[in-house]
Amino acid sequence: MVEMENVSAGYGKCKVLHNINLKLLKGQVTTLVGVNGSGKSTLLKTLLGFLPLSDGKIRIDGIPMENFSRVELARKIAYLPQGNSVPDITAGRMVLHGRFPYLSYPRKYRAQDIAIAEQAMSQMGIVELAKRPMAELSGGMRQKVYIAMALAQQAAVIVMDEPTTYLDIGQQIKFADLIRKLSEDGKTILLVLHDLPLAFKISGQIAVIWNGAVAECGTAQKILKSGVIERLCGAAVKSTLTEAGAQYFYDFS
Ligand code: ADP
Repeated sequence: MVEMENVSAGYGKCKVLHNINLKLLKGQVTTLVGVNGSGKSTLLKTLLGFLPLSDGKIRIDGIPMENFSRVELARKIAYLPQGNSVPDITAGRMVLHGRFPYLSYPRKYRAQDIAIAEQAMSQMGIVELAKRPMAELSGGMRQKVYIAMALAQQAAVIVMDEPTTYLDIGQQIKFADLIRKLSEDGKTILLVLHDLPLAFKISGQIAVIWNGAVAECGTAQKILKSGVIERLCGAAVKSTLTEAGAQYFYDFS
């Protein structure tokens, strides 16, 4: 479990986050939503230890984050940043990079690292892509490679900043399925999503970020009932119950 308790943080003198309280539970998908500039990426960067706290505490499995070294932290939390650049390497090599936090000097991959990377590729169904250059892959395939890299990292927590931006609708639906499987496997997932119906569909917990604070946090139903989305996100989301469970959609009326 990851716990943010009364966390304030920002960039030097520019305070962005104020008094954030958020718990990320094992096997749960938490999604941050909110307008541009509300502080979602800053929250992720703080959680990843890229920005110092000016107040509060972050605990990972009960241990204060400052007790972990960079490498130890990378074994706990895998991060897929926004709009990943496309490195000039093969997909197989990319996945192997996930083993980096486990290498000791002289930083050579061991048979065990290669086996774990292969297993991660197999789990994502992308074994046949191993020798293909990243630049040749579609957005959806590339994303699977990045997720396989996160799996090879064997981190309990996976953080993704706007992971669906470059995916077409079919790929977005597959992504939803993949996230569900990862959470069922016990991964703790933290996402930033702009697509509100998708966020409502796949998240056990939604945190609405506004002005660097958590305006509301809870299940999709709780957030819908609160009216906070209409008030703060400039959009209305409605739900309807079908045989396949609740479905969410924008109300354009
Ligand atoms: P979001 O991810 O919700 O769009 P951000 O976390 O990127 O929002 O930004 C929140 C606030 O922090 C904005 O006011 C933005 O201008 C500011 N900010 C973001 N990055 C930096 C930075 N590197 N230095 C100073 N201020 C920043």
